[in-house]
Order: sequence, then structure tokens, then C-alpha cells
Amino acid sequence: MKTCSSIRNDGERCQAPAMKSSEYCNSHDPDRAEENKRRYSKGGKRGGRGRPRVDGVQDGTVDKGRGAVAGQLLNYMIRCVQVEMQAREQEELVERLEALEREMSFPHSHNGGRGALRTLR
Ligand SMILES: [Zn+2]
Repeated sequence: MKTCSSIRNDGERCQAPAMKSSEYCNSHDPDRAEENKRRYSKGGKRGGRGRPRVDGVQDGTVDKGRGAVAGQLLNYMIRCVQVEMQAREQEELVERLEALEREMSFPHSHNGGRGALRTLR
């Protein structure tokens, strides 16, 4: 497969694979440049919601104490989301392991092939 013929800012040639219809990769193709620019700038402007606002604290329009509490609550929420994601990930892993064990059905196991799972749970 041929590689993109664009030269990067550091002077090296872009290593990304070129698209079938172009000499350039997905991000360097001039035909797509406009589209990419639009997409990136939209992403930048959208940042308000769901992102902690620190400028209010910095310019004094938000009370420092309130800002601190809000920050703590935000951290707490992030932690909750992380824990939930980890739990879901583990559940999914256990399910996949169960499916694998059912398929393999460990003929010589003493407890019907569920040994590995017992120690996990
Ligand atoms: Zn490229």
C-alpha cells in the first residue's frame, strides 16, 4: 500500500496510508481539508457543556468556596463514572469467560468446568 505524500511540520513524510483515490491520507487530502477544518473547529467551540468551567473562578465571578465544592463534586462524579465503567468491563469479561467455558466445557473438571470462574468471583 502506498503512503501519504504530504510532508509533516517536522519535515518528515507522513507515514499514514494513502486513500485509494488520492495521494494523501485521510487527514491530508486537500479535498477533505475543508471538511476536517470545519469538524475540528466545531469540536473546539462546543467545549462548554460537560467541561468544568474554571474561568469564572479565575476572574472572581464565582466564589472560591463554591468553586472548590463544585470541583469536588465534579471529581466525585468522575470517580462514580470510572467505577461504573470498570464494573461493566468486568461483568463483560466474566460473561465472555463463561461463554468460553461453556464452549470448551472442560471434561475433566470436578465442578462442571466452572473452576476458573469461582476464583474470579
Ligand atoms: Zn498524511
